[in-house]
Amino acid sequence: MEVEIRGPEGLRPDEPRHCAWCGRRLPGSGRIGRPRRYCAQPCRQRAYERRAALQRGGLPEDAVVLSTAELADLQDRLFQLRCAAEDVFTAASDGADPDELRKLAAEMVETAKSLERLR
Ligand SMILES: [Zn+2]
Repeated sequence: MEVEIRGPEGLRPDEPRHCAWCGRRLPGSGRIGRPRRYCAQPCRQRAYERRAALQRGGLPEDAVVLSTAELADLQDRLFQLRCAAEDVFTAASDGADPDELRKLAAEMVETAKSLERLR
């Protein structure tokens, strides 16, 4: 199963950057030069190993490949986000007060944040 994502060149300067392996958000580098691509050495190593395996298999170097388990986990978290969004929609349709809506929206933000992690 192959899932391609946007390369770093498509990012706006103020857009948060994410580890190219696990998807965790990277801290702003604040320094001149090539921005870091991985959050930690194990991510860099695993990305290197996967890249080497991909090249042996004839896939393009920038292909992003998720295992079936990784994809299932991602789909679970996407489903949680949909449920959180539906909660907000239902509450708004039922005339919930602003505090209730704010609380539900905050939960949706937390669920969406967990989706920044790919693996
Ligand atoms: Zn990482």
